[in-house]
Amino acid sequence: MTATTTRHLVESAVTMPRSGIRVVMDLAWRTGDDVIGLHVGEPSFPTPGHVVNAACDALAAGHTRYVPNAGIGPLREALAHKVVSRNGFGPTAADDVIVSAGGMQGLWLALAATIQAGDEVLLPDPGWPNFAMAVQLLQGRPVGYHLSPEDDFLPDVDRMEKLVTDRTRVLIINTPSNPLGAVLSPAALEQLLAFAARHDLWVISDECYDALTFDRPHVSPATLDPDGRVLSCFSFSKTYAMTGLRVGYVVAPPGLGAVLAKMQEPLLACVNAPAQFAALAAVTGPQDDVEEMRRTYRARRDVACELLDRRGVRYLRPEGAFYLWIDVSDRTDDVATFAQRAVTQRRVAVAPGTAFGGAGEGFVRVSLATATEDLLTGLDRLLAT
Ligand code: PLP
Repeated sequence: MTATTTRHLVESAVTMPRSGIRVVMDLAWRTGDDVIGLHVGEPSFPTPGHVVNAACDALAAGHTRYVPNAGIGPLREALAHKVVSRNGFGPTAADDVIVSAGGMQGLWLALAATIQAGDEVLLPDPGWPNFAMAVQLLQGRPVGYHLSPEDDFLPDVDRMEKLVTDRTRVLIINTPSNPLGAVLSPAALEQLLAFAARHDLWVISDECYDALTFDRPHVSPATLDPDGRVLSCFSFSKTYAMTGLRVGYVVAPPGLGAVLAKMQEPLLACVNAPAQFAALAAVTGPQDDVEEMRRTYRARRDVACELLDRRGVRYLRPEGAFYLWIDVSDRTDDVATFAQRAVTQRRVAVAPGTAFGGAGEGFVRVSLATATEDLLTGLDRLLAT
């Protein structure tokens, strides 16, 4: 007798591609300690001491229990204040701030509230792979809008018009950008918001690197949004070098906070309580560490760009975040294999551009969040003929 079963895994989960960055990461771990890692966006700084102490103090004080779905009150208040004073939008009510488990879970929350099966989401290509992965898991359809060297990697709204269908619901914007390090100007953002208004789209704005710009200030899309269509997603991970504590937050347009808050119940109930106290110390405490990290990343950007200029290598000069987008199309027409061979043969790990979408062929992403000496030696190894 043959057994039959109606049990099956959801196709979107099975077919979701693995992050191409993780593939290189696993290979680098297996290959050995002499591999210089320029592939991950992990700050090279320790978490500031007062932030670590706040988490320890919270544990010692017994903050080891459930807290509200949307986050602890003092943190939501502090974030509402931060958004007004540092991002320039609002006034934001604490009710519209939802604490998430890292920026990623905030993005998931924003997507889960705005799309249903079959809906299409416009997202940057090249762009952070998790955008497309999340859309796919939510049964939506990721549609990449190309950012190409010919347009200085800026979104071309005329070309984006052709991607819109009657199922398009959301536009994802990411500034400063991973992997490009590009920072969108107010003019570019205004065009994108006008585009979103023409097609009545939600805008999910990923501002995980909002504190890390080098040449001009970050502009939050919500400052240019008269319609309440922008859901702004932020993270503590990079700004305060606390990736493993997993705290981020969503600032929702007025009135949406309650919906997002109740969605947290089945998703995670609440974000880890001691980590929220650490985040509170981070956002309300001294910001010197943030400034120090920003200056260091900028200095690394400058020395790395000098090296690339000396070698005649083409790249996009990053204005924010901590990544260099390097053109290796004269060395390979298959960057995924190029990146794997770089690990095993040249002992340097970089992220292949195709990990960020089809438009990434011919490019690799190098992280500046690595000690300067390693960064320069790693680039030397990568570019040696
Ligand atoms: N958004 C972008 C563009 C990122 O690069 C990252 C992390 O690499 C995140 C969001 C989320 O980071 P986390 O979930 O650690 O806050």
